[in-house]
Parts: sequence; C-alpha cells; structure tokens
Amino acid sequence: MPRRKRIRVRGIVQGVGFRPYIYRLAHSLRLNGFVRNTTNGVEIEVEGEEKNINQFTKEIRIQRPPAARIDEISIDSLKTKGYEEFSIRKSRASKGFTQISPDIATCPDCLKEMNDPNDRRHEFPFINCTNCGPRYSIITETPYDRVKTSMQEFKMCRDCAKEFDEIADRRFHAHPDCCADCGPEYELYSIAGKKIDTDDPISRTAELLKKGNIVAIKGIGGFHVACDALNCNTTKKLRRLKHRPTKPFALMTRARNLNKITHINIHEKRMIDSAAAPIMLLRKKGELICEEVAPNNPYLGVMLPYTPVHHLLLNEIPYLIMTSANIQDEPIAKDEKDITGKLGSLVSFYLGHNRRIENRCDDSIGYHLQNRGFSIIRRSRGYAPVPIELPVTVKPTLAVGPYLKNTFTLADKKEAYVSPHVGDLDNLETLHFFEEMVDKYKRWFRIEPQLIVHDLHPDYLSTKIARKMSGERIGVQHHIAHFVSCLGENHVRENTIGIIFDGTGYGLDGRIWGGEFFIGDMVHQERVAHLEYLPLPGGESSIRRPYRIAIAYVHKLLHKNLKLASASEAKIIKRMIDEERNTVYTSSMGRLFDCVSAMLGVTTEITYEAEAAINLEYIAAQGVKGHYPYSISESGTMTVEIGTILDAIMGDMKRRVSNRIISAKFHNTIVAFSLDLANVLRDRYRLNRVCFSGGVFQNRYLLNMMIERFEADGFRVHTHRLLPNNDGCISYGQVIAGNNKES
Ligand code: ZN
Ligand code: ZN
Ligand code: FE
Repeated sequence: MPRRKRIRVRGIVQGVGFRPYIYRLAHSLRLNGFVRNTTNGVEIEVEGEEKNINQFTKEIRIQRPPAARIDEISIDSLKTKGYEEFSIRKSRASKGFTQISPDIATCPDCLKEMNDPNDRRHEFPFINCTNCGPRYSIITETPYDRVKTSMQEFKMCRDCAKEFDEIADRRFHAHPDCCADCGPEYELYSIAGKKIDTDDPISRTAELLKKGNIVAIKGIGGFHVACDALNCNTTKKLRRLKHRPTKPFALMTRARNLNKITHINIHEKRMIDSAAAPIMLLRKKGELICEEVAPNNPYLGVMLPYTPVHHLLLNEIPYLIMTSANIQDEPIAKDEKDITGKLGSLVSFYLGHNRRIENRCDDSIGYHLQNRGFSIIRRSRGYAPVPIELPVTVKPTLAVGPYLKNTFTLADKKEAYVSPHVGDLDNLETLHFFEEMVDKYKRWFRIEPQLIVHDLHPDYLSTKIARKMSGERIGVQHHIAHFVSCLGENHVRENTIGIIFDGTGYGLDGRIWGGEFFIGDMVHQERVAHLEYLPLPGGESSIRRPYRIAIAYVHKLLHKNLKLASASEAKIIKRMIDEERNTVYTSSMGRLFDCVSAMLGVTTEITYEAEAAINLEYIAAQGVKGHYPYSISESGTMTVEIGTILDAIMGDMKRRVSNRIISAKFHNTIVAFSLDLANVLRDRYRLNRVCFSGGVFQNRYLLNMMIERFEADGFRVHTHRLLPNNDGCISYGQVIAGNNKES
C-alpha cells in the first residue's frame, strides 16, 4: 500500500548539497516524488512503501550533509498521486529569503583531489564542492546563487559547468565551483607592490616564511598575518611591530600535530575538526612552540587549516602563527590595499588573490567546558550568519549592541541574526564596518526594523548611532541585557537568579555596574545585590592601570598604603578619592580582579582587555580549599563588602603566602559569597534557577567552580553556549529585553 508524504525542512539546507543528497536518498529507497528549495528551506514529497518513507525521514535527521543544519522537520500525509520518478524541481519563486550558509572548512573529498597529482584540481587553492568552501564571505545578495557572489566574475569552464549541472556529481550546484582554468588565482607581492615572479606563489610564500619573514595571507574572511611559530625571533619581531607585547597569537597546524603541542581531549578534537573549524583554546604541552606565541599562558589558541591555501602552506611549514591582519581594534583587513596601506610596516610580503572578500569574517574562538561542551568566545566564521532562535516572538528589531566586542542583532519573529564579531566601536573603521553590515543584513534577511534597542550609556558610539535611526527606540541596561541573553538562549521562562560578573556597564543609577545579582525573567528584572561601590580614580582611564585601582581600593577601605606607584602619584590618587574628585564609583567584578592582580604584583598595567584578571586566573593553584572572610550588608539592596577580603589578602601577603594560593583563595571567596547570596535569594523568592553571564565568566577556573558548587547545592545552572559570556552576547539580549519592555 503506497503512501505519500510532504516533508518540510527548515534550517541551513541551501548551498550545502541538500537537494542532491535527498535525490540520492530517495533513489536508494525507491521513492518517487520531488525536492525543491522554497522560501523557508526545502520541500520534499515522497511516495512509496511506508517503511521506506519512515526510513527516509529517519535518515534525513541522522545522515544529512555535513554542512547542513536542520532546525525543524514537519511531515504531513497526503493522498497518493502516482509520481513516476523522483526529480529535483525548480525553486519556487518567492519574495522571501533562505538562510545563508556560513563558510565551511575544506572537506576530506576535496583534500583527496587536491593531493592527487592526477586530479585536474591537483594543488588548486580554490577547490570546493557542495559540502565545503566559501559561502557567507563571498555573498552579495540573497538568495544564494553564483551571480550573487564574488565568483560571478569567473566564468565557469566547460568541465566545471558539466559538474555543476550533473545531479550525480558532488559539485552539482556548487556555486563557487571552479578550477585552475576558470577560477581565481593567488599572486605574491612585495609590500612595495612589486609582483614576485614565480610559478608557485604558495610554495614561494612558504619559503619566505621559513626564512623568518612575516607575510600577509588572504584567506576566506580576511587576511592573516603569518609567520613561523617555531621561530622565536620572528615571533618577537611580530610582537614589536604589532605593538602587542603579550596578547596570545593563534596558531595553525595539522590535526596530527595537536598531540605534540597540546593536551587535547576527544571533545576538543571533534570541535576543532568541525565544518566551522574554530580556534580552540587548548592546554599547552611541551616547549616546541616558542613561549612568545602565548607568554605565561597555559593555553594555546589553535586552529586547523580550513581553506585549501592553508593546507598547501602547511605541507611545507608545520606550525604557523595566524593572527588577524588589522591595526589594534580595527576590523580585519580584507583588501590588498588595506595591507599595503596600514599594515605596510608589519609585513614584508603579501599573498593575495583576485576573488573579492565581500564580507569580512574573523576566526571564531571557542573552548570545551567540562560537562557542558563547546562554548564560544567569539562567534564569527563558520557560525555567522546562522540565526539563533528566540524564545519569544519579536517585532522587526535592530539591537545595536555594546561598545566593546560589538555585535549587532537583527531579529524578526523568532529568529535572531547575530552579526559576526564587529570589534570595539571606538574608531571610524569599525563604525563603517558596523553600518555596512547592518545595511547588508537588512537586505539579506528582508528585515526593516521598527524597534531600535541600544545601551543606556549616553556616550557609546552605538547609542549615538541608534539615536540617528528612525523608528521606536528603547535603551536596555547592559547587565540586564547580559542576564536576558542567557535566559533567552536557554529558553528559560521561570523566575531566575542572574549573576552577572562583568567589566563595565552603565548602571541605572548612573554608576558603573559589573558585579550584579538580579532576580527576574525575560520581562521584569530587579537588582537585588551587588558588589560594594568603590572609586575609580580618574574614571575609566584607570582600567589600563590596575595598580591605580589597587591603591584606590586599599586606601578607601583600609586606609593602608600599597607601594605600587611613586609617592607623588599615590598621593594624587588618594587625594582624588578623599575629595571625590575626578572619580566614578563602580561595583564591577572585573575591577576587583584588576585590584587583586595589581596588589599581588601579578599585573599592574595592561596591554589588552582583562589582562590583569586573566593572569590572576592563570596563576591560581588547584585544589586549594579556603576562602577569605567577607560580609554582606543587608540594608536595602544587599551589598558584598570588599574591605574584609582585601584586608585578609594583605595579611596573607605579609605572611608571604604564595600568589598562587592567594589567587585560589580569592577565587574561592567569590564562589562562596555568590553561593551565600544565591541561597538567601532562593529562600526569599522561592526559585532555584541561576544564570551566569558577563565577561568575567570567561575565567574558566571561576566558571567551572561556580557551576560545580552551585549544582552541588541543588541549583539548576544555565550558562551561555551559543553566545559568548562577554559583550558579544549583549545585542541578542537587547532584542528580547527591548521587545518585552515595550509591551
Ligand atoms: Zn569539498
Ligand atoms: Zn573550471
Ligand atoms: Fe558586559
């Protein structure tokens, strides 16, 4: 008895070889019918034996093409129609759009061809297929089609066109398909713009790298600045030229080398080798990689090669530093002229190619969190622009995000298009990039925002941009956005405790918040506790000089001296505090970390964001049990008092307790008072869930311990997974909070 079913699949199912896969699957199960792309995904009709149809729907879920992402499958039974074959039908014309696939790392089939001397794409650096290659980074318009990408300038040769049209071919409808006869080409230039005469620019680049040169290399979403990671002198030189004394560089190497340089576990192996191919933070091992790559850091940021040119380079040089080509805080360079202009003093050569990068996309960064799985720190290449589901239905909304680590989110109904990492919105280049991407997102996803959501900080560039936009505008407090983002991502509707440990955010009382306890849900939130307000001398400028924060806090709370600055500087700081001149007050957890790090002399001045806190985390000893005494004042909003903590730390310093122990005890103290407070709130408000968000939770030592201790105490703990703990999660939270606030 034949049956007929209609199956609708939503998700990333176009541009990833889904229809040919369905075609082959239907054939193998002797089913007739058709498959076609629609506005919202793919529509399939199958007719045949019931058990084959069941097998078919089961297979779709488990055996889908590697780059496909299925969000939803719906199945309807229909009256049989008597189809005589299975066919791929023309896309149904529509005004809508379909999801854009992210860029996908080169697949094993393509690698095999690229390494085969008899293959027509032997060593071809733009090899790709329906399962891999550029997508997001080359698109100009939707729906995704070759003429709407930067591949449109390259007319397919007859051989490629044949593959493109042949259903059985693994390049059927692979829009970026090309070969050495018809595709783009790499060329090597000196930084002065002189083309280097060579038949093999990639091998020549590898040679230059081996000799200690720093070379810019054009990849998928931008240029990298590359050098030999085993050459310490070059690495040092790169640090000097990039004005980046200590911030770690990312490494690229082959999978077989991972065990030589890191302690990688099976979960981490799976993530680093995924189609998204992110940079993974892995525990460092041995001394093969020079210390200069990630000084004083127990982790190495490592990625595997993800475009053909990376594979070809790594054939000749095993370990490369691959750092984004940009001037500090500016967007990653994507055009040759960015390299010869701004980065001219940094690199001596550049390996470019003649396919335009339409959309910049930095490498994504993630790590494996114990018992939870992959967690992201920077969500860009390989993930954007895949939408993240919203827990509520929203009106067309643009949330412009925060100031640091900006992302924006364009949302409609239940879909949130979180932009890739934009950067720190404090310079003109980043602002231009931001505006360009907002325009593109509106076009691609057909969303004209009616509601604009922004931060409350009046001076943020993002707030100013929002003010200029037409439509209804709503401001959302920074840490409420953190909280709601975590609730939203986890689809938590119940009343929950939100613990937000962060660097900076403009508070509802005009002070700088960052160590906050909320209770609430996605609609209403109440701030119920926070860290004691303490003075930042010279305002936020002291963030770059943690020793000033330490002097200020210790003076304010304990009236004691710290010998961290000249007598005259210390005097100025203390006077500022005493006279409350040129100071702002903050409850920031990030600043408390800065203070302790500087007190111990671990890091007194920083060269990148959160450096002092990161170094304090890295020195913390494992297995230390004790914590420092703290007190919680109960008048009105509860306040965690810091004085007793700092006093006890000073005591340990005097007794010459090691910094490693002090750091561990300080971390334990945070866990202890957080748990205490959460227990009070649990009893008072009868709730049992807790959310963690904020940049401080990038501290894995703290986050792991918080999760462990809270779960041991019976709390249901929610953390970010799809979005980062840092300000990369803000715009998503703004969308939800902004829509809820209004109703
Ligand atoms: Zn492939
Ligand atoms: Zn060709
Ligand atoms: Fe934040």
